[in-house]
Formats: sequence, structure tokens, C-alpha cells
Amino acid sequence: MHLKCLEIERFKSFGPYTRIPLLEGFTVVSGPNGSGKSNIIDALLFALGLSTSRGMRAEKLSDLLHQGVAKGELAVTVTFALDSEAGGGDLTICRRLKVSSASSTSSYFLNGNSCTLAELHDELARHRIYPEGYNVVLQGDVTGIITMPARERREIIDELAGVAEFDRKIEAARRE
Ligand code: ATP
Ligand code: MG
Repeated sequence: MHLKCLEIERFKSFGPYTRIPLLEGFTVVSGPNGSGKSNIIDALLFALGLSTSRGMRAEKLSDLLHQGVAKGELAVTVTFALDSEAGGGDLTICRRLKVSSASSTSSYFLNGNSCTLAELHDELARHRIYPEGYNVVLQGDVTGIITMPARERREIIDELAGVAEFDRKIEAARRE
């Protein structure tokens, strides 16, 4: 599968509506410092349901709202093109955040239908996409992986290869 397009509404430095199409293969985003390149990755992580605002380089979720206004709504929609063995077609996920003076509330959508965060994560996991995983390699991750103990590095590889899931099942069966 590949990322086909990101639609960003009022997220961080992005205004009312920005559509970023991505072609299959390698895409480079270039621009001056502070122009919003990393904010695109933050927007992607937001849509994947990342829960910590720190992971999106914001102190709190409400700081994600464009120009830090006190209330309003932002949204990120991500479209994946599925491979033929996954049934082909598109998978669209969307997360909206409503910010009011009292709270910030997220809502999630799978192919346009409202869903829970758990349902979103289940669907993404089916495609081996994890908001905290290594689908997105952030600044510092490579150094972190090189310098971590071998056992921890092995755990990451097991997770990516899908072996860890079986280890969890074996462990659960042992406990039964
Ligand atoms: P660099 O090349 O330095 O890595 P970058 O292109 O990755 O830069 P980003 O970190 O994506 O830049 O963007 C930082 C910019 O986003 C800053 O100018 C900051 O003011 C702006 N920004 C962050 N949050 C908001 C927000 N809520 N509203 C408006 N702008 C915001
Ligand atoms: Mg950056």
C-alpha cells in the first residue's frame, strides 16, 4: 500500500484546506526552515490516532489548532491506496478535533464512517501501521536504534516483522 494523499484543515501552520497528493515511490518535501514540512508528518501521526500531543511537537492538543485560536475545529484526512492482495481500492481515515474553552474532543472516521479509536487502530494494525511504530522514522530515531541495547532492537524487528504478535498469542495461550 502507499500513502496517496493528505488533506489538512486548520492543523498547525495549515489554513482552511490543503491537499497534499503523494505519488507511489519516493517523495521529497523541501522548503525553508519553519515552513511546515515536519507539520505534515505531525498531521499524519495525528490522523493515525497518536494520543500524545508531545509526539506531534505540541504541548497540548489544543495547540494544534491553526494560529492557536481558543476554539474551533481541525481535521486531517489520509487516503491510502491498498495493494491488490489487500483488496485494492482506497482506505480513508480521518480524525477531527473540536477545541472549546473546556476541552478538546477527537472523533475518528474510517472510510467516512464514524468509528472508535480502537476500531481505527485495529484497521491500521491489519495493514501493519502503528501510530507509535516505525512506519514514521523521526529525527533522532536512527541514532536511538543504533545506540539501544541489542535486545530492545530485536523487539522492534520482531514487532515490524509481525513475530511479536505470535509471541503475545503464545504467551496468552500459556496463561490459559
Ligand atoms: P525545519 O526545516 O526547521 O525542520 P519545518 O519546515 O519542518 O522546518 P515545521 O516544524 O513543520 O517546519 O513548522 C514550524 C512552523 O509551524 C513554525 O513556524 C510554527 O510557528 C508553525 N506552527 C506550529 N503550530 C502552529 C499553529 N498552531 N498555528 C500556526 N502555525 C503553527
Ligand atoms: Mg522539520
